[in-house]
Amino acid sequence: MKTSIATVSISGELPEKLEAIARAGFDGVEIFENDFLAFDGSPKDVGKMVRDFGLEITLFQPFRDFEGMPANLRQRTFDRAERKFDVMQELGTDLVLVCSNVSPVSLGGIDRAADDFRELGERAAKRGLKVGYEALAWGRHINDHRDAWEIVRRANHNNIGLILDSFHTLSRKIDINSIRSIPKDKIFIVQLADAPLIDMDLLYWSRHFRNMPGEGDLPVTAFTMAVAETGYDGYFSLEIFNDQFRGGSTRSIAADGHRSLIYLGDQVRRNDNVTALTVAPMPDRAPVKGVGFIEFSADEKDAADLIGILKTLGFRKVASHRTKKVYLYAQGDIRLIVNTDERGFANSSFAVHGTSAYAMALSVVDARSAFDRAVALGAEPFEQPVEEGEVRIPAIRGVGGGVIYLIDDTSELGRFTDIDFLSVEDDLDIEPAHLVRVDHIAQTVAFDEMLTWLLFYTSIFEMRKTPMVDIIDPGGVVRSQVVESTDGALRITLNGAENRRTLAGHFIAEKFGSGVQHLAFHTEDIFATAKMLRRNGFKPLQISPNYYGDVEARFGLDPDLTERMKAENILYDRDEQGEYFQLYSMTFGEGFFFEIVERRGYAGYGAPNAIFRIAALKKALRPEGMPAR
Ligand code: MG
Ligand code: MG
Repeated sequence: MKTSIATVSISGELPEKLEAIARAGFDGVEIFENDFLAFDGSPKDVGKMVRDFGLEITLFQPFRDFEGMPANLRQRTFDRAERKFDVMQELGTDLVLVCSNVSPVSLGGIDRAADDFRELGERAAKRGLKVGYEALAWGRHINDHRDAWEIVRRANHNNIGLILDSFHTLSRKIDINSIRSIPKDKIFIVQLADAPLIDMDLLYWSRHFRNMPGEGDLPVTAFTMAVAETGYDGYFSLEIFNDQFRGGSTRSIAADGHRSLIYLGDQVRRNDNVTALTVAPMPDRAPVKGVGFIEFSADEKDAADLIGILKTLGFRKVASHRTKKVYLYAQGDIRLIVNTDERGFANSSFAVHGTSAYAMALSVVDARSAFDRAVALGAEPFEQPVEEGEVRIPAIRGVGGGVIYLIDDTSELGRFTDIDFLSVEDDLDIEPAHLVRVDHIAQTVAFDEMLTWLLFYTSIFEMRKTPMVDIIDPGGVVRSQVVESTDGALRITLNGAENRRTLAGHFIAEKFGSGVQHLAFHTEDIFATAKMLRRNGFKPLQISPNYYGDVEARFGLDPDLTERMKAENILYDRDEQGEYFQLYSMTFGEGFFFEIVERRGYAGYGAPNAIFRIAALKKALRPEGMPAR
């Protein structure tokens, strides 16, 4: 698969963009005219710079309002074209994009447009250049690739071809089967973009909300499959207009783009015997069987506080590491590791982020192939020295520079605690609190990183995303998006914070970056758990009594149930599939907390309760006697 990206897709000055694009592994780049109009160098300099980065210029664009101009304007249009050709020759590229005319003075007529393109083809041929025609979804007369193809067909000129753009085709729900009958040599380049499904003006949607394939909701894979079936083996070029990307990290957006194309190519390769679109084979997306463990880094003092909370949650220390100050706590299938060792990555993570859940292990079917797939998709491998005889667990870097370990049952990886740890019999006075497994892991990230991690999880693991929801924090909006495995064995909520006045935003600012903000454990009986927690001295987050009157009325609950929930500070939600009960701890350190949930068929995460949880947390964090602001 030949990969390309338009310079307009990412932020930064042109040299910075090119550096990021080359580093991400792209083969080519589309140059937007504005990019070098703003750049202090001639087209020749730009061309040289692109080639010095080892990239090819795949396309120069845009050339607007060309076809179907009335006679009095037609000559001027061709003069404009000749000037674009001059620039292209200086740049050192042979393909220009003409997008369908949006001018109110332009005239319709397929044959008129075909005549214009035939003449343009003649002019381009004299210079050894090619012209690709793209139907804009909002073109005045031509807004469908099938009509653009008919014009190209009738122009019948070797130097005139078609440009397909997934956004323009899919946003208008045009039948992609129509692509399968286009000869591959007449498709000059294919542009790809996804987008979230939003019902809005096509032009505005396109200019602000496009995103990388796999990040949105359009059937870009099916589109690409149709293209691949023609035998097309040219460039697939990302053309993404997105306000966030324009403000985001240049390198990370470029890396996301490359990952999205490789992932797309992998899906197409699997679904069809398409040989033209070659992507190196890689293992399947890794099915996740569960959370193997979650590891906290802390200093001695914070660790003592954390362990205190774990004990009230009913966790017992079950093992100590043979050579490090690392301890394993367990309950049900939940394993938590507390790492206070002064050596290793945990300690450097502590130095930067303070006490945090900096690592997690995902239990997969085959850890080695999951690792190989992750690396094939551009994930950064993580390694640190281990003592002789200890298990070396494959790992990659995840959200906020944290670590994702990959373990399985088929190798010694599944037994690493038996190998690296010594079991201890401790905390026998602690009563377990019926917690059975990790229900979800909530990661807070900067808003502009949300799509990055969404693509990361869904491309490497067998996980899907659910629709984004807004959580109203009194300090602003927090966007929440869930990625989960089909069977719920791994559920991650990604919360994107736009400003630091929200609790999530505050968490990021205090932690110097993204990370796990809360961990939710599942219980089969939240009232039994609450009783046990009380006995253990657990301090729940105090929910306002007003909440219970509201929730009782909203759901028509039995007053007895409401009373019991109120007594234990339990929150309630319901969806079509069932009921949900939630209980929160107080925050710890810079805003980390635990949650306990009971799902009775319910599939969500209690988003409607978030506002009450946030208000309660803010109240709890306020110094005694301070009025609310
Ligand atoms: Mg386009
Ligand atoms: Mg939660």
